[in-house]
Amino acid sequence: MTDHHGPRAAEGASPSAEATLVHAGRRRGLGEAVVQPPVLSTILGSAGEPGAADYARAGNPTWAALEEALGALEGATAVVFSSGQAASMALMLALTNGRDKLLLPSDGYYNARVLAERLRPHGAAPVFVDQSDLPGIEHELRSGGAAVLWAESPTNPLLRVADLTRLGQLAVAAGAPMVVDNTVATGLLQRPLDMGAVASLCSLTKSASGHSDVIAGAVMTRDAELAGELRLWRTLGGGILGPMEAWLAVRGLTTLPLRIERQSASAQAVAEHLAAHPKVTAVHYPGVHAATLALARAQMPLGFGPLLSFEVAGPPGAADAVVAAARLIVPATSFGGVDSSWERRGRWAGETASSSLIRLSVGLEPAADLITDINKALAAVPPAG
Ligand SMILES: *Cc1c(COP(=O)(O)O)cnc(C)c1O
Repeated sequence: MTDHHGPRAAEGASPSAEATLVHAGRRRGLGEAVVQPPVLSTILGSAGEPGAADYARAGNPTWAALEEALGALEGATAVVFSSGQAASMALMLALTNGRDKLLLPSDGYYNARVLAERLRPHGAAPVFVDQSDLPGIEHELRSGGAAVLWAESPTNPLLRVADLTRLGQLAVAAGAPMVVDNTVATGLLQRPLDMGAVASLCSLTKSASGHSDVIAGAVMTRDAELAGELRLWRTLGGGILGPMEAWLAVRGLTTLPLRIERQSASAQAVAEHLAAHPKVTAVHYPGVHAATLALARAQMPLGFGPLLSFEVAGPPGAADAVVAAARLIVPATSFGGVDSSWERRGRWAGETASSSLIRLSVGLEPAADLITDINKALAAVPPAG
């Protein structure tokens, strides 16, 4: 079957993720704007029916386009928020209601751990666990009250890969909902909802929007009740996404597959180069970590994304010198943008990573340019000893 937009996939087969991301939210009515424009109006015409999104805190057509794209990517309903943290907060509040504890990875995203601590009086007690310790997690899930399991893979900033299918099985068996923070992989590389998660969380600020110019977050779920709860928290708490941000995020998502393919290939080349460098003592990337390589390939069959980290020989000052010496790679936090950036992660108070760890986000520059820049920067470090 074909239409005037070109050949379609075999009849009955749904379009690929790439095709869906390009077309989601697009309209094709005669005379209609094909691209969903940012709708700035705070009031939307309605007949006053109860529950209608007639005020823009409750709904906005620009969000709808973004939610359509994100939902299609993970075969789910998406609920977008003003940031990844706003999405995490709504999810923590919705899921910990009536539960006693929230298990979080001890080496996971720092601000999720801090947020869980702050929410303790309103929700469940955070318990920090080692995601590779499956017996320990099973014990925590089955003792001391009802739990929520908050997983993250690969982790930020150590890029550790957790066995999400096994974690999902443990959670299901214990009657605990599992969340996966999927920010590093994105829904393109990894589908947590197919591995037992009830919700997949993504900070769209990073790779998903991909241009370092928008802060946004989303939760994807196939549980209609949870989606409703999240929308209620969003409407009442007011952590809503601005229409301009939604529009930028939709635009960024259309090129996600192209960016991730290039960034994954370059990050693999950079990681292999770093692993052989005499001034580098450790490299953290799913593609060079032998112990979890088979698991990573099974969980993320299309690639491992732009983020890696490595440790530099010598004191923290050596890592600072490397970051400062780059001429191409931008010294900055965050990741997943078109421009490569890096930072010494230990400069953030509370970060658990080693003090000489540099987190690098590989952008769209050719890998050879990045390797040249990295070599020059590493040459700025005085030899250890
Ligand atoms: C950045 C990040 C978040 C929070 O997202 P914001 O959009 O900055 O609020 C959550 N999880 C991970 C893994 C992140 O890297």
